[in-house]
Amino acid sequence: MVKKRRSIHEEVLDRVLIGSRRRCCLCYESGNDEVREGAVVQIQADLPESEANTEANLVFLCQEHRSELDARRISPQRLREAKAGLYRSLREGRVRIGGDLAGAPSPYEQHVFALLGAELRKWFNGQVTIHEDGSCPDVSFSADISVAGIHIWLVADARYVERNIGLNDLKAFAGVVRQLKANKGIFVTNMGFSESAVEFAGEEGIALAIINPEDRELKPGVISDAVAHIRRAEPARKP
Ligand SMILES: [Zn+2]
Repeated sequence: MVKKRRSIHEEVLDRVLIGSRRRCCLCYESGNDEVREGAVVQIQADLPESEANTEANLVFLCQEHRSELDARRISPQRLREAKAGLYRSLREGRVRIGGDLAGAPSPYEQHVFALLGAELRKWFNGQVTIHEDGSCPDVSFSADISVAGIHIWLVADARYVERNIGLNDLKAFAGVVRQLKANKGIFVTNMGFSESAVEFAGEEGIALAIINPEDRELKPGVISDAVAHIRRAEPARKP
């Protein structure tokens, strides 16, 4: 039986994608906390229209678990529990953007954040505070910059990978940047970015940078590109 798919309000869809950070709660239960390809689906399909597409009845699932749900091999009750478990972990900061559990940053992350921090300090001449201590559970690196009466909160993620960063990784990061209401996000990798990821980053105002483990300083332009288009930055007020 093919049911007509009722449309989900975009705002609700966003909340579910951001809320789950594109983690499949059933995969998460079995130890996989990576960003997954998947979709937002209804936990219980037989609810009245007014309840069916509310955030409470929606969940982000990977393709495999979605098929299992469609085949009724997963009960709504179990799915609700798994969803609650994932959200609890996210709230408590046990899942990070990079997919690794909270803990020491990888050597690559340390390398990138040291370069970023040094460059930001140089660029903003001391008017910058760097946080790398995990004080914010959702991002491993953030910087508060105060310059000419403007305050900028910049967050960054760094990922050492074997393949180009894809759209899903970028979307998960964009969700966090939005949720934190940071002014600017920078996504750093050692490889490159897929075409759709680059396009999406442009639309979202996210800066992309490639930094190699052997780089001893940032390529010119990384910071200037990053701060060139700051979202929501307050203009300086004349005294
Ligand atoms: Zn899954």
